[in-house]
Amino acid sequence: MRAVIIVLAGVLFAFAGRAQEYDVVLANGRVMDPGSGLDGVRSVGIRGAKIAAISETPLQGRSVVDCAGLVVAPGFIDLHSHGQTPENYRFKAKDGVTTALELEVGVSPVPEWYHAREGKALINFGATSGHIPARIAVMHDSGTLLPRDEAVNRAATPEEVRQTYELVRTGLDEGALGIGMGIAYVPLATREEILQLFGLAAERKAVIYVHMRNGGPVEPGVVDALQEVIADAAATGASVHVVHITSMAIRETPLCLRMIEGARQRGIDITTEMYPYTAGMTDLGSAIFAEGWQAKQGGIGYGDLQWALTGERLTAETFARYRKIGGMVAIHSIPEEVVRQTIANPLVMIASDGILNNGKGHPRAAGTYARVLGRYVREQHALTLMDALRKMTVMPADRLGMPNKGRIAVGADADVTVFDPARVADKATFENPAQYSQGISYVLVNGTLVVNHGELVDGIAPGQPVRRPVVK
Ligand SMILES: [Zn+2]
Repeated sequence: MRAVIIVLAGVLFAFAGRAQEYDVVLANGRVMDPGSGLDGVRSVGIRGAKIAAISETPLQGRSVVDCAGLVVAPGFIDLHSHGQTPENYRFKAKDGVTTALELEVGVSPVPEWYHAREGKALINFGATSGHIPARIAVMHDSGTLLPRDEAVNRAATPEEVRQTYELVRTGLDEGALGIGMGIAYVPLATREEILQLFGLAAERKAVIYVHMRNGGPVEPGVVDALQEVIADAAATGASVHVVHITSMAIRETPLCLRMIEGARQRGIDITTEMYPYTAGMTDLGSAIFAEGWQAKQGGIGYGDLQWALTGERLTAETFARYRKIGGMVAIHSIPEEVVRQTIANPLVMIASDGILNNGKGHPRAAGTYARVLGRYVREQHALTLMDALRKMTVMPADRLGMPNKGRIAVGADADVTVFDPARVADKATFENPAQYSQGISYVLVNGTLVVNHGELVDGIAPGQPVRRPVVK
């Protein structure tokens, strides 16, 4: 007993001796924390992987980063990041993102996906249990990210529906962050099947992240599609997050936001997100480009499609040729005023929907967050800096049910983004999407600097898997 007391006293003494020294101190930055409303010059002390102190007086650190003149914000959380490779994680970190999640399409099987990234990732990562990948596997579709043939062209048999449900359920119970769903990509999935998956989400208190059944103004269009997911959420009690509202609703976005707001006022747990661009992107080989796509995309034509591989605009002839091969195509369909209005709506979170593949893809993969902060906050004053940060940090953290993320608070995970508000800007373009954002000065993931003095740090992997908290 006595020995124990002596040992304990020794530990306490040693602890007290270095209690005032932190591993990293972010000194004298303008700390902006939308969760608490804090906006003031502070020093932030980090110990291990956690924020340990927020102080108006100087802190001692083994490593001190001078943040004078810079904004110190919670690291950005991207709820919609298809790019889950080292290449993508580098572009995310340079855009201020500390957690990148594949929630829309999701993955299957779940444990293998997490295992492949554990101990190797620059930033935090995670995924939902995906209806689409389960469907691709069960129906032997030849698609990779998105279905291309079997899962598009024929209805699933009752046995295939059952097997798909079982795969989704298993992935959810293995720690996936909810259920991912892209109904438009499996257009023959019945309303009953989708309703059953909402029931599963409700049972497990998990969130459904959904790319809805239809978009655009022509019925069946975005209004019907939004009614489906609101009705399913109401009928089952499931929580639902509608992805990329502007690319689905286009000019109908204000109407859809009023529907979402009304549903929320009546107790439905529904949220949404957007990316700050006037074009979407998806696979030209997918069901999105079935007969009648021009009207469904709000009245666009071949020339509004841009082939990601070469940057060329399409014609009827190249459309037919490339659709057979499949590949990413930008869809220039969203009016600028829709982007600007929607970004200012307090309901709407920021998420990228990005993926880069050997430098090819949509600029949103590299530039989403810096573009909001530079173009829409600093240049256009479409929203305040604090409101923009809220949409990138505490709102997605709350959607995930993670009180330790998206905050500058004592005890929170030390995921922090430090940027220069006068310089932050996106550089990625449709012609050359693989360009790092500028003005992101320091990024810490679980207390480790992954961007230092504006440069990526090589040879480290502090990113941790993000799994679903167990809800009782
Ligand atoms: Zn989508």
